[in-house]
Amino acid sequence: MRLDTLVTKLNRVGDVLGKKLKRLGIETVRDLLFYFPFRYEDFSQIKKIKDLKDGEEVTIRVKVELIANKRSPRKRKMITEAVVSDGEDQMKVIWFGQPFITKTIRTGSEIYLSGKIKDDMFGLQMVSPSFESVKKDTAHTARIVPIYSLTNGITQKQIRFLVRQTIDMADELEDWLDDYILEKADLVPLANAIRGIHFPENSEDLKICQRRLKFDEIFLLQLRSEMIRQSIKKNKSKKIIFKEEETKNFVNSLPFELTKKQKISAWEILQDMDNERPMNRLLEGDVGSGKTVVATMALYNTVLNNSQAVLMAPTEILAFQHYETLCKIFEQKKINIALLTGTRACSNTEFISDKKNKKSEKKELIEKIKKGEIKILVGTHALLTEKVKFKDLELVIVDEQHRFGVDQRKTIREKSGNEITMPHFLSMTATPIPRSFALTLYGELDISIIDEMPADRKLVKTRLVDPHNRDKAYEFIKKQVEQGRQVFVICPLIEDNKDTRIQDTNNIQIINYKNQEKKSVLSEYEKLSKQIFPDLRVGYLHGKLKTEEKGETMKKFVGGDLDILVSTSVVEVGVDIPNASVMMIEGADRFGLAQLHQFRGRVGRSEHQSYCFIFSDSDSKKSQERLEFFEKNNSGFAVAQYDLETRGPGEVYGTTQSGMMNFRLASWRDSDIIKIAREIAIDFDFGRYPQVKEKIKKWEDSVHLE
Ligand code: ADP
Ligand code: MG
Repeated sequence: MRLDTLVTKLNRVGDVLGKKLKRLGIETVRDLLFYFPFRYEDFSQIKKIKDLKDGEEVTIRVKVELIANKRSPRKRKMITEAVVSDGEDQMKVIWFGQPFITKTIRTGSEIYLSGKIKDDMFGLQMVSPSFESVKKDTAHTARIVPIYSLTNGITQKQIRFLVRQTIDMADELEDWLDDYILEKADLVPLANAIRGIHFPENSEDLKICQRRLKFDEIFLLQLRSEMIRQSIKKNKSKKIIFKEEETKNFVNSLPFELTKKQKISAWEILQDMDNERPMNRLLEGDVGSGKTVVATMALYNTVLNNSQAVLMAPTEILAFQHYETLCKIFEQKKINIALLTGTRACSNTEFISDKKNKKSEKKELIEKIKKGEIKILVGTHALLTEKVKFKDLELVIVDEQHRFGVDQRKTIREKSGNEITMPHFLSMTATPIPRSFALTLYGELDISIIDEMPADRKLVKTRLVDPHNRDKAYEFIKKQVEQGRQVFVICPLIEDNKDTRIQDTNNIQIINYKNQEKKSVLSEYEKLSKQIFPDLRVGYLHGKLKTEEKGETMKKFVGGDLDILVSTSVVEVGVDIPNASVMMIEGADRFGLAQLHQFRGRVGRSEHQSYCFIFSDSDSKKSQERLEFFEKNNSGFAVAQYDLETRGPGEVYGTTQSGMMNFRLASWRDSDIIKIAREIAIDFDFGRYPQVKEKIKKWEDSVHLE
């Protein structure tokens, strides 16, 4: 037998079983060894029926006193009912749709049952537990029994038998980590870990083996980031000399004082740029925490060094806002700033009209950029596909993006006008990613975090509104509009639909709420415009509208020609409407807290006191607690951390963000492993470990990364 021996060559594996194994991704002995159990049954911790509590996951050892199949009265589905006893107490067990169970378990059988305990008005019971005969199998010898996730037609026993038959081959596996790393991270060798993950001697042993295999997953991700980081740092950049005097004067000319975190972030960025190695940094901060000002200081220093810089935003509206902000901030300085988007081309020195001869004006601007006359160019991410070339581009800032892709970097470099150097990169995001988590996710980036708001900010007052107070909320909104304010109403759906899972972009949580009232943009729009606020000007927005329609509605709202905007999450990223003072969110339980926080950030952007009203469709206690947490916490980082802990990264940040989604054993919670893996990964000498580089490549090919 060898590691690459096909499983079909093994004892008792015929074509049929071979096909089924293939469906599980098991073709060779090696695959089998790396097919880890997804949980274990611990027969060393067997409970008594009298000690069982509702909700507990337990194993009990019982004798079957009675077992029978019957049909459910309503659906004609088969139900298997049993009464079991541990010699002292009895309880009921139910299985649905598995009538064959009565062929295996008979009255008088002694069995182990594993599953969740329910204690309700029907008394103590177990529903669809897994079971294991006491007499046979491994339960006596191995006290902890592996449970594999299986496809139809393969039994736990079959797979255990196969793994047992091949487990000695674990010794043939080459350990990709050497003794130095094993010792440093306090890990057991791979062979031991593989043995122990399948057949642990005790729970202590299991933990040690899991730790080793979790480390492998985390370390690989960290090494990949480190490899990217090192390859970026190999490039040369132009040193953007930190002009302290000028920067100080510039900061003093601002109408406000920078917050401490703004100062720290700016300093980190400016130090980073004052280096012959390219900056590769992520600036994180809540909406309104003042990232743009910090970015401005980087832009300013680039210009002072006589180089060019570019700032890219995800939408035209945002690009235009950035452009206006920069023109204003740099009003007293003689800096040529330009805006270039699909529909606009203008600069602060001469206005290039977007009406007359659009083509030639765009051409003119592109010419000026190439000559180096434009120092700061603002645009959308689409700039990358435009025919723009720079004379000496040394700083690239991207708003609302987390990291730069390899292709993106290549394109930018080709446009930069300087073949020897690579521009410094800064990305900015309002997505609050806690630092510890960001380090796992974005290991190749340096990170600056502004988790502090300017002191003059009024907190947005957040209220979780009881359904019976809905009318009061509407009255409140009416008064706000009378005072000249504007209002957002966010709904989770576009239109009423049986399948409530169809949501707009950025849906974070997918839940099927079958029998509940659904709030959709179209039905709320109808209701608000006709019944509740017939005198007010109500508009609506969602992702399926044509771009022009969206633009038109948005323009109206920005211009104050609409009082209320009913919308899906499309308003999440973006627009600044200082006059808006109420954010009302329907079906708030369907959004992640980080996303709710983004909505909340749409108001409270001026001197007007602002409000966020959230409504929930769910009666679940957990959901109530989450929303109450949101009500009481105004920091994006706090609410994101809460969701991360209670719901996990996939739900909070979407699923495509990281290789972390491919972890089988590890999670972001394994902070001690992450820490040590990171320590070892930093400045890793890839030259000394060619097998590691190979392994990363293989891994990259096998998983989907963005
Ligand atoms: P972000 O991009 O992080 O959402 P901005 O940079 O757009 O935030 O800042 C939001 C608003 O706050 C802007 O009007 C900006 O001028 C202002 N601002 C920035 N920093 C401060 C500060 N330290 N004190 C007061 N106001 C500030
Ligand atoms: Mg911003």
